[in-house]
Amino acid sequence: MSAFYPTMGLEIHAELLTKSKVFCTCSAEFGGTPNSRCCPVCSGMPGTLPVLNQKAVEYIIKAGYVMNCDISRFTKWDRKNYFYPDLPKAYQISQMPRPVCLAGTVKINVKGEEKVIRINRIHLEEDAGKLVHDEVNRISLADYNRCGIPLIEIVTEPDFHSSDEVIAFLEKIKLLLQYAGICDCKMEQGSIRCDVNISIAPKGSDELGTRTELKNLNSLKAIARAIEVEIERQEEVIESGERVIQETRRFNDALGETTAMRSKEDAHDYRYFPDPDIPPIIFTEEELEAIKNSIPELPEQRVERYVNSLGLKKADADIIVGDKRVCDFFDEATKSYDNPKAIANYIVGELTRRINLGEVDMDALKFTGADFARLVELLQTDKVSQSNAKIILGELVENGGSPDKIADEQDLWIKEDNDLLAKVVDEIIANNPKPVEQYKSGDQKVFGFFMGQANKALKGAASPKAIQDYLRKKLSE
Ligand SMILES: [Zn+2]
Repeated sequence: MSAFYPTMGLEIHAELLTKSKVFCTCSAEFGGTPNSRCCPVCSGMPGTLPVLNQKAVEYIIKAGYVMNCDISRFTKWDRKNYFYPDLPKAYQISQMPRPVCLAGTVKINVKGEEKVIRINRIHLEEDAGKLVHDEVNRISLADYNRCGIPLIEIVTEPDFHSSDEVIAFLEKIKLLLQYAGICDCKMEQGSIRCDVNISIAPKGSDELGTRTELKNLNSLKAIARAIEVEIERQEEVIESGERVIQETRRFNDALGETTAMRSKEDAHDYRYFPDPDIPPIIFTEEELEAIKNSIPELPEQRVERYVNSLGLKKADADIIVGDKRVCDFFDEATKSYDNPKAIANYIVGELTRRINLGEVDMDALKFTGADFARLVELLQTDKVSQSNAKIILGELVENGGSPDKIADEQDLWIKEDNDLLAKVVDEIIANNPKPVEQYKSGDQKVFGFFMGQANKALKGAASPKAIQDYLRKKLSE
């Protein structure tokens, strides 16, 4: 057991899903040919004037509400001065003393235990561009497409004491932002990014140790690992009689180590001052109320609705709501077949299994919720067998199409053909005198053997119930 206790706080940057950038009309979409989505404003030309994107302000207010923050009635913007080639203005328009959101709370669940994480503040700022370092030619290229994309920074209190808590919180924040419709939270595209401030102190001590900041963390897995590695490093530093230095460190996933990037700046290093180009905003109660009322159904409300109104099991509802794309798909499917429990079962059992295996990409589905619902309906009404339903789903995943057509083309229907059923089952019984003997002398277990044989031979042409009935009848003759 370690003699130290880790404490962490997070700074999360999330890009808002607005169509245009925060201070100009350039597209805020991800990607694009480098420097094709820039104008004099977002590339920092002198003499240009930024105009604040109203949608971005709405979105940060929504973010504040979903994290139970106080929304400032008066808010203003400041210049954060620093020089780095990814931000050609040499200052970032951000918010220092009067951010839009203050003092929130977010509930997380870690291994069955509920915990409340406090939010210190959320402010609105502009994103910087991207530098691409070409190691071969030893040059760096600047792409300013990202420059000026609206960004919210969520700053938490130092309320985390394990990597599990950090991950649970990030997963919760991702869901909240996705359901509120304000960020797509694609970590791999950098639309949500997280820095971890981390310190350790002797157990029982009230004081926090010197913190380091971990940057460049681009997956939940990397974050969890970086935290473990950094805690261990700090312990070694202190145990060898040295002191932890306040600095920003980079995590190298391949080597499993953190290395110093630069000494960590304090706020006063940036010489913040009020931005003279963006007027402060005073919100009215009516404006805030209207934004609050426009927030769509959030994850917890959806789980509640699924359990209370649709009768789903809580565990199933949690799985479905845990991925917004799956959740929207479920809602779509239930619109065309009113059997939410059966649809949920098939999503949890079959669809998520294939998602986890990497067979299904929810961002590039070839079938609709209605197609999926129809498949579940065919299964529920004994039109196709379990195993043939899986074949149909596989075909939907691969090539799309309609379940009925696939069943037609591949001859996957249950045929209520009693002659065929009788012929196949009679043959199985005739070929297996020994198990028949066992069954007749009271060994019920061999019934499963006969079911298996019949299923295999009939290839889904008869419903399990029809097979069962006929088998029982024949075996007891
Ligand atoms: Zn622009």
